[in-house]
Amino acid sequence: MTTILVIEDDPSIRAALEQGLVERGHSVQSAATGIAGLEAVLGDHPDLVLLDLGLPDVDGLTVIGMIRAAGSVPIIVLTAVDDDPTMVAALDAGADDYVVKPFGFEQVTARVRAVLRRTHRHASSDPIRVGELTIHAPTRTATLADRPLELTRREFDLLLALAARTGEVVSKRTLLADVWQHADGSDRTVDVHLSWLRRKLGETAAQPRYLQSVRGVGVRLVDPTAQQDRKSS
Ligand code: CA
Repeated sequence: MTTILVIEDDPSIRAALEQGLVERGHSVQSAATGIAGLEAVLGDHPDLVLLDLGLPDVDGLTVIGMIRAAGSVPIIVLTAVDDDPTMVAALDAGADDYVVKPFGFEQVTARVRAVLRRTHRHASSDPIRVGELTIHAPTRTATLADRPLELTRREFDLLLALAARTGEVVSKRTLLADVWQHADGSDRTVDVHLSWLRRKLGETAAQPRYLQSVRGVGVRLVDPTAQQDRKSS
């Protein structure tokens, strides 16, 4: 699971970002000022920072410089105005990407995914954990409740492609492009591999746990233990 730090002083935008990112399987921390944000970067080592440029205490460009002085965590800046000189200055100061407010949430998550992919955070030594499932990209190993899963190359790639977007519905076309490098292949190819992967995860299409199909749309990897928590709360 990736941890995203949101540095934003507007409480409603902060809350919306927190909720949306948590729903997509990220762990989220937040800070309302530049100084609190910097402390969180140094203390908690997030995988990515979403940074509002208009903060009450420290200028956003200064915050970027301070974060960069401390390390290479990816930064996506959020700004209220489509202000080209500010964007250029933010990118020059070390930001990896930017989103202009008001933004659609899908745009934010797409940028987060793209920046994480580009900066290879998922290929880092940190395993991806979803419930009792652990996926370690560098060694191409996966375990379920600490038991190793015997996956073929395609099954592992499919699981990794879904795990990189935990909680999101991923279309079969996207999976064909990611796993088979063949976006116009047959959905049936994906279905067959999904059913094999399901069997290895000890579940069926009729009684899914980790792999939830959304008819006509695609499939998503979810944490079944979190789902139970939500239902019971
Ligand atoms: Ca602000």
